[in-house]
Amino acid sequence: MQKRKLKIAIIGLTSCEGCEFALLDTGREFLDFLKQIDLAEFRLLEEEFDHNTYYDICFIEGSPITKENVKTLKEAREKSKYLIALGNCAAMGGVHEIKNYHDKKKIKEYIYGQKSTVANPDIKEIDNIVKVDFKISGCPINADEFYKVVYALMRDERVNIPQRPVCFECQARGYECLLQKGEPCLGPIILGGCEAICLKSKMACQGCRGLFDGAQVQIMMKKLIKEHGQEKMNRIIEIFGLRDDIEEKL
Ligand code: SF4
Ligand code: SF4
Ligand code: SF4
Repeated sequence: MQKRKLKIAIIGLTSCEGCEFALLDTGREFLDFLKQIDLAEFRLLEEEFDHNTYYDICFIEGSPITKENVKTLKEAREKSKYLIALGNCAAMGGVHEIKNYHDKKKIKEYIYGQKSTVANPDIKEIDNIVKVDFKISGCPINADEFYKVVYALMRDERVNIPQRPVCFECQARGYECLLQKGEPCLGPIILGGCEAICLKSKMACQGCRGLFDGAQVQIMMKKLIKEHGQEKMNRIIEIFGLRDDIEEKL
């Protein structure tokens, strides 16, 4: 008897859709993946999906900002065996979370004008609202990591992401250390797996993949704050929703 194909949904909340595009960007690999599954939801494909269904695996991209987003997220959880946060926004709050640390009313008025009625709640990672079984971090995600995770889950197995810093990949590739040159690079406390892509372009790591387990956050932040000041470091760690995670460790 032929084995049933698993139903997999990729659902976007409020986001730039960059993590979904990272999958499309893999071209043939994505098409091969689609052949092995029953795609149950993916807004970048113009298909009519059946919404009255369950999902074996559901990936959630973006932030639950609007009431509709929260409803979609809760419904997705109810329908899913595994629910996975896809990318920095879903897993860590993303760039949207910057406003949590500032006067969000002022920010809204600056962007949308005083009369705007656009929703303006505090930004929350999706695991504040529903149970999350696994997180794939990054802005955008590393598609190779997505495939490792999804193929493992399709076998009912879990992937362990190696808990080592961005520095590991940075130095293995022979990139110049920006921290040693006095730049505020977060690489020593941030989870590797991105192939140190920013360092390849001589940009300091700003932490889109989040902290790895066992990172020496206190020591690193003390050093960076001493060299660059609290205000500048706050600006950096706010970019990818890292500030609340760091403050928890201090
Ligand atoms: S994590 Fe980055 S690329 Fe992915 S949806 Fe959010 S902002 Fe876009
Ligand atoms: S540049 Fe950053 S990521 Fe690379 S080794 Fe130095 S501190 Fe680590
Ligand atoms: S180097 Fe840092 S900011 Fe750049 S992709 Fe990797 S984790 Fe994200």
